[in-house]
Amino acid sequence: MIELKKLKYELKDLVPYISWETIDYHYNRHLATYVANYNKLVAWTKYENKPIESVIKEETSWPIFNNWAQILNHDFYFEVLSGKAEIMPNLVLLEQINDKWGTLDKFKEEFNKMALSNFWSGWTWLVMDNKTNELYIVNTQNAGTTLIDSNCTSLLVCDVWEHAYYIDYRNNRAKYLDNFWKVLDWKIVEKRIKR
Ligand code: MN
Repeated sequence: MIELKKLKYELKDLVPYISWETIDYHYNRHLATYVANYNKLVAWTKYENKPIESVIKEETSWPIFNNWAQILNHDFYFEVLSGKAEIMPNLVLLEQINDKWGTLDKFKEEFNKMALSNFWSGWTWLVMDNKTNELYIVNTQNAGTTLIDSNCTSLLVCDVWEHAYYIDYRNNRAKYLDNFWKVLDWKIVEKRIKR
């Protein structure tokens, strides 16, 4: 049994960029449903009392994987949002971004382009290669996740399932993406880097 991980902010704290209603549906209904489904699926199995991080290493059933990955992806997404976001990366990270994309704005443009081109319900990630430290923007589909890729460290993720933005932006994913950067906390992103 696992529990819904608590948010570090109130539902209304991301207004006006993400409404309380979106967070309410997204967290209290979508994510809570993944947690409930996961608990139902692992009940009376050997996974029941295992920490969620360890389950996927041996479990291959799709229903368990889908719910499991959606819980970790959502925790990773909600954790990086903040009503008091630090909107600039620190100098070390900024230099790495500039090396790859030229400027922070150009990076955001490329990230948004990738997120817009994600045809599926899915996720768009910034990851760092563990060997070369090079940064990459990648898409995953459905519950797909870079969190289990041992070759890279996931730094941030944007949820591009329609439920993440439809209440506020209808079909305008581009506008959701533009405003995503206003609540993305780079301080949290930096903490995820293994140096
Ligand atoms: Mn979602």
